[in-house]
Amino acid sequence: MKYWNKTLRSMDEYIPGEQPEDPDEYIKLNTNENPFPPFESVMKAIAGNLNGSLKRYPDSKAVKVREIFAEQNGLKPENVFAGNGSDEIFTLIFRGFIEKSGIAAFPYPSYSLYDTLAQSNGIKFEKVNLCTDLSYDLDKFLVKGYDMIIIANPNNPTGSFVEKTKIKEFLKIYKGLLVVDEAYIDFYGGSSIELVKEFDNLIVTRSFSKSYSLAGLRVGLAAANEEIIKGLFKIKDSYNVDSLALAGAAAALLDTKSFNYNLGMLKSNKEYLEERLSGIGFEIIPSKANFIFTRHPEISPGNLYEKLKKQKILVRYFNGPVQSDYVRISIGTMMDIKKTCTAIESILGEV
Ligand code: PMP
Repeated sequence: MKYWNKTLRSMDEYIPGEQPEDPDEYIKLNTNENPFPPFESVMKAIAGNLNGSLKRYPDSKAVKVREIFAEQNGLKPENVFAGNGSDEIFTLIFRGFIEKSGIAAFPYPSYSLYDTLAQSNGIKFEKVNLCTDLSYDLDKFLVKGYDMIIIANPNNPTGSFVEKTKIKEFLKIYKGLLVVDEAYIDFYGGSSIELVKEFDNLIVTRSFSKSYSLAGLRVGLAAANEEIIKGLFKIKDSYNVDSLALAGAAAALLDTKSFNYNLGMLKSNKEYLEERLSGIGFEIIPSKANFIFTRHPEISPGNLYEKLKKQKILVRYFNGPVQSDYVRISIGTMMDIKKTCTAIESILGEV
């Protein structure tokens, strides 16, 4: 504490979901990771870079990944930035795209790292409640003149989603900076990315951690107007994405066959989970992500979490006025999901 500055002393630490020492002993449905391994093409690309090239610095401009992503999304490479996970991109945004006197806003409940990053950069922020059914109403963000808004679309932990048309209408009115965090967009589509060609106050971020099974590699992308991307380059660390991550990310983007296969399986596993849980009385918030947010009238989230953990199944629950009623369950393999449903059924049978 002695050497901490005032900001550090006053801020809260981000608490990630548990990562047990031996994750393979668990059915791990608590951190929205992809249960399937990275694509073979990605492993090969990474292995191919495990040689003398590691003694060199990586490409500080991440040219290849940016070119591939830009082409796939009808953008120019000048509209794309690569970060050490999308989390790094949020850090850079707080560092360079809002004044200390400004006010940021995020939905509530949402990804709590936004709060931590705002605090660590000395930025004030407000939280704008989702509707009572946990859906989005963007008009609520227009009540005050926020300088910057970050929305997760789909939202974590609720899975709620806003259509691109709504985001477009919002951008016609809102003149601050809007960041749309699309970490979970790949599962059901509906990206707002093409709007970056039309609006210079929009940043769309993407992650390789979920849909590409690469949470450990740490790569994320941002798409925005050229001026914003130039700013991100100016403020980033010298070599922010390592060479293995760059090689893996490029291969992942190119392997659309494995990508679609992986997503297809997760979507059908999700449907199965939803059907089976709603059949035993769970209420499930409509989700466009690789997780569901759900509650049951007869068991508290904490109790369900503890009982599942005893059976080496990890799910996640949160503290807070809205979210504390629910558990969030990430979509696993079909075997994971079936075992989890059976465990939940027997737990409910005992209460
Ligand atoms: N955005 C949201 C909404 C998330 O839930 C997460 C994962 N916790 C991230 C971003 C982090 O993405 P990355 O791994 O690319 O930093």
